[in-house]
Parts: sequence; C-alpha cells; structure tokens
Amino acid sequence: MAIEKMQFQAETKRLLDLVVNSIYTNKEIFLRELISNASDALDKLRIESLTNSELAGDAEPEIFIVPDAATKTITISDNGIGMTRDEVITNIGTIAKSGTKDFLDKLREASGAAAQELIGQFGVGFYSAFIVADKVELITRKAGTDSAVKWTSDGAGEYELDDCDKDSHGTTIILHLKKEFCGDDEYNFTDVYEIERLVKKYSDFVRYPIKMNFEVKGKPEEEPTIEIRTVNSMKPLWTRPKSEITREEYDEFFKHQLHEWEAPLEIFHVKAEGTVEYTALLCIPKRAAQNLYYSDYEAGLQLYSRHVFIMDKCKDFLPDYLRFVKGLVDSPDLPLNISREILQQSREVKVIGKALEKNIQKQLAKMLKDDRAKYEEFWAQFGKSIKIGVYNSMFDTKLKDSLKDLLLFQTSHEGKFSTLAEYVARMPDFQKKIYVAAGNDSAAIEQLPQMELLRERGLEVIYLTDPVDEFTIEALRNYADKDFQSITRENFELDDAESQKVKAEVEEIAKTHEDLLKDVKEAIGDNVKEVRLTSRLKSGAVCLVTGEGGPSLTMEKTFASMNNPLFKATQILELNPNHAVFKKLEGLHESGKDMPEFKDLCTTLYSLALMIEGVLPNNPAEFANKITDLLTK
Ligand code: ADP
Repeated sequence: MAIEKMQFQAETKRLLDLVVNSIYTNKEIFLRELISNASDALDKLRIESLTNSELAGDAEPEIFIVPDAATKTITISDNGIGMTRDEVITNIGTIAKSGTKDFLDKLREASGAAAQELIGQFGVGFYSAFIVADKVELITRKAGTDSAVKWTSDGAGEYELDDCDKDSHGTTIILHLKKEFCGDDEYNFTDVYEIERLVKKYSDFVRYPIKMNFEVKGKPEEEPTIEIRTVNSMKPLWTRPKSEITREEYDEFFKHQLHEWEAPLEIFHVKAEGTVEYTALLCIPKRAAQNLYYSDYEAGLQLYSRHVFIMDKCKDFLPDYLRFVKGLVDSPDLPLNISREILQQSREVKVIGKALEKNIQKQLAKMLKDDRAKYEEFWAQFGKSIKIGVYNSMFDTKLKDSLKDLLLFQTSHEGKFSTLAEYVARMPDFQKKIYVAAGNDSAAIEQLPQMELLRERGLEVIYLTDPVDEFTIEALRNYADKDFQSITRENFELDDAESQKVKAEVEEIAKTHEDLLKDVKEAIGDNVKEVRLTSRLKSGAVCLVTGEGGPSLTMEKTFASMNNPLFKATQILELNPNHAVFKKLEGLHESGKDMPEFKDLCTTLYSLALMIEGVLPNNPAEFANKITDLLTK
C-alpha cells in the first residue's frame, strides 16, 4: 500500500495540541506510559499464544530502550502483540477513552491552577510521547502476520502511514526529542543512566525485563565494550512484604498498572493463606470515573495466577456497590487457563470476593473513624455507590447492617456531614423519630416552610439531596430502633408538649371550617387528595405534603427523569390557619364559593405550594398572569 496521509480525529487533535504545548508539568511520565503499553502488548501476546501456539516464537519477551545522543532520539521496543495497519489507525489515530470530550470542554472553561489540576488527572497514554518529542515514529508488526507498518507524526494534526520492513513481531517507537530534552537544560533523555534512573523510579515492578545497552570501559587502551543489562527488578510489588513498600512505590505501581495519572486515595494490600491462598492489591481512586454509573463503565479486578496475568476486568470478585474499587488479585489456587465462565462458578473466587468485601468495609469504617477529612473526600466521589448498595440490599439485612454506619448525610446541624449514629446521639429525649427532608440541595431544604418550626425547636433534620437518598432511607426503614420520618409527609408531627398543644388548637379550628376546606379542594381539583389545616407551619402560609406511602414529590421527579411518569406522589395541601392569607380566604369564601376571586386565590396558593417544592405550576403562564394581576391591584 502506498503512503497514506491521514487526519487525527478532532478530539485527538485538540488533545495533542495540549500535549505538544507541554501542559504536563512532569515531563518524565512519557516513559512510564510507553513502558506500560509495551508491557500490556507482551501480556496480550502471551494470552493469545495460549490458544495459538504459532504466535509465541522463540524470543523471550522483553522491552528494550535505546537512548542515543548522536541522533537525539530515544527508542522503546517490545516484542509483544504488535498492531495491524487498521489497528494503528483505530488505536493511535482516535481516542476511545470515555470522558475525553467532557474533559476538553471543562478544560476550555478552566484556567490557571484549576486547568492544571484538571490536566493532572487526565491520562493521554501514547500521546504523552509528544511532551518530549517533536516527531514520533511507530513501527509495528502484528504477531502472526508478515507485514509491518510505519506511523509517523509531528503531532500537528496529521499522521502518515507507510509499509515497511520489520524482522519480527512487536512495536518500536522512536521519539525524536525536542532539544531541551537532550541535555542542554534540566533533562537529558539521551543519557542511559538518566533513563535507568527513571525506569527504576516508575517501572521497576514491570514483569518483563527492561533492557538497555551499557558501555563498559576496560583498560584505557582498549575500546569500551557494550553490555546488555536488565534495569528493573521485575519483582511484582504485591509479592514484597508490606512493611518494605513505600507509599510512593504503591502510587507509581497503580499509575502503571491501571493507566491512572493520579495517585489513589486509599490502598488495600491483603494477603491470605486460609482455605484459599491469595494476595490482593486494591485501591480506591482519587476521583470517580465520569461514566461510573453508566452502562459503559467496566468494573472488575485484574486476575493473576502465580504472578502471571490471566485476565482483566473480572467482575466476579466484588459486588456492584464496590464497582469503584480497582486493582488485582493473585492466587495460586486459580488455574492459568481459567475461562470467564468457569470463573463465575468458582468457589475460590467467591471465597476471595467475600473476604475482600469485608476487608474493604472494615477499612472504610476505620477511615471514617481515624481520618474524617479523607473519608469525606471518599464520600464526595463514591458515596452514591454505598447508598445504592444499601438500597439494593433491601432484603439482605446483613449487608444493610454492615453498610448503614458508612453512610453520611448533610444535616441542619452546622450544615456538616453526619453519620446516622452521630445524628441519633444528638437527639433530645422527647424526639422519637429521625427527621429527614428531601430537596434539590441543602439551600432549597432550608427554605422549606416546614423547616421553620423544627429550627425553632432546635430539632435536627437530615437533608436528602441526592435522588438516591430517599430510596436509601426507605430501604433502611429505621436506625437504632428509630423510624425515619419525612417532614414533608402527611403523618409528620412533633412530639413535644408545646407542639401537641398547637395541634389540638388547629384541630378545633378545622372542625368549624370543614366547608371551607371542602370548597378549596373543589376549586383546586383532583391534583390534590385533600386540603387541610396544619400545625407544622409558623410564618409560612401553605405547604404541600405527600401521602404516607408511595413516592414523594422528589421521587416523582426522579421517576419522571427516568421516563417513568406514572409514579405520582399523592399531594395534600396544607394551610396555616394563623396566617393572614387564611383570613383573606375565609372572607372571600363568605361572599361565595363560586366567585372567581375565591377560586383564583385557591389555585394560586396551590401553585405557590408546588413552587416551594421546586415543581412548576401546571400552567406557569396563567400563574404568572394571576400574580401580575395581584401586584397591580
Ligand atoms: P491506553 O494504553 O490507555 O489504552 P494509549 O493511547 O496509550 O491508551 O494506547 C492506545 C492503544 O494503542 C492501546 O490500548 C493499544 O491497543 C495500542 N498500543 C499502544 N502501544 C502499543 C504497543 N507498544 N504495542 C501494541 N499496541 C499498542
């Protein structure tokens, strides 16, 4: 095939622009990225050759690095799986990584330190070569084929593909270094000792030998000879004693292993020698993946047997609510040629999974106790997963029990996050139930007219601001033998003597106003199930509450956003008999329940109650007209 000139996909072009303009402050990372790719390519070849013995060949797997001052290049080669021409086009010409567009859009809006932080967490993999090189050549030959292809680009928007010769399968990448990386400045990536240092720093545990040529000087009159040396120790990090591993080593390991650009938030290194022997090296990333809750997110751990990689993304170890946990499991009790199907049935996998789940729960509880700030950081990213876990464990009391103390909610107590235990500890003696309120955010909840009285009585309310929160609370039902009570449900009442007295007074007023309430209900129509007087309001005129069972108004909104418009809340309109508007209503009612003024006031009050709950009135334009009329009267 002749030379082909091709354009990078638009997103790739934008990303490359960022890389070429060298926004990455750490210039050394290109080496880690290219070594990771080479090591993956060697893994892939080994796995494929299990079923196709012709692929393997005689050569031992290896990665070879040649820094060369004379040509101002550094070359990284592997004898792994290689790529076909088409694979080069899809893998290197486009970016499949989810969230790329999102990242680029966010970046456009950010500037300065915020932009730097955003960039720091976004990996560019192969393209990191352009941090240090102004031209990159990639020569590759797919194992099992005999044609090779050469890809060349200066990172500006185009790349070139051409046929070429290559003796054996694998990939060779030649970076033509920008001059500031050839020793004039801070960096010298053409220096073999400098590269040796970087390999040790970032890639020491890579399972394949990373080799380099070293000049060995003999006697002064003799020519120096070249010696090939393996630079990395190749010892899998997880096989070393925990006490000897530094946090930096763990961090670098996870960056390499998971192609992450940020160090993880928390690390779990577990060794077990019970009925099933295994080692697990897991982590909680610093940030939730953009697509964590979407179907294209691939959860799962990497699986090793006797330190040999078997497969990626094994979903069978951890339950779905721990989908954010990443890492690997290495067990000699799992056979090397295990298939995904057998894995699902495997008793060993179940035993390991259960133990890991327990361990993670325990460590999270410990983090919550010992390092609250870190736990809140975790919660901000992954709290939703735990809440979904509680919701899904509706019928699994044991699981629910082990998760309920990991929950955090924002509450009216100083606006901070609290555990349920902390909330209960602050409850006054007369309070029998745990109060909750749902809304879009804490500000919206604080504005609810129902909050006023609770605030006055010094009663704390748990804010349910995430759509999943209400479902979680429903699934829990109670905590420490105390039921949850929504302050916007029909059956809410306060237990203290003062509140009970006000309630009795309101019930008396209601008795003498049965006709009025019936006519207000008639004027509003079937949208509300009932209109009644309330003792839960102080200065507010109206509020809307929902029936005891069934969805709440916020749940209704969530269902509607998931295209389930049939799940409706039962609405009850409550009027404050001590408010001036109520007197006005009484007055208008006396002049006739069919007068337009009375009807207008009824529907307007209902619209207002809806709006307090963050719901638009049924006919916003009509409502606006009525309000303008009122303002001009
Ligand atoms: P990532 O490694 O995160 O997938 P990269 O941009 O680093 O992203 O690489 C894109 C893809 O190109 C890889 O997934 C792999 O399929 C392919 N690739 C990169 N380097 C090599 C290599 N040395 N050998 C074979 N394939 C490679």
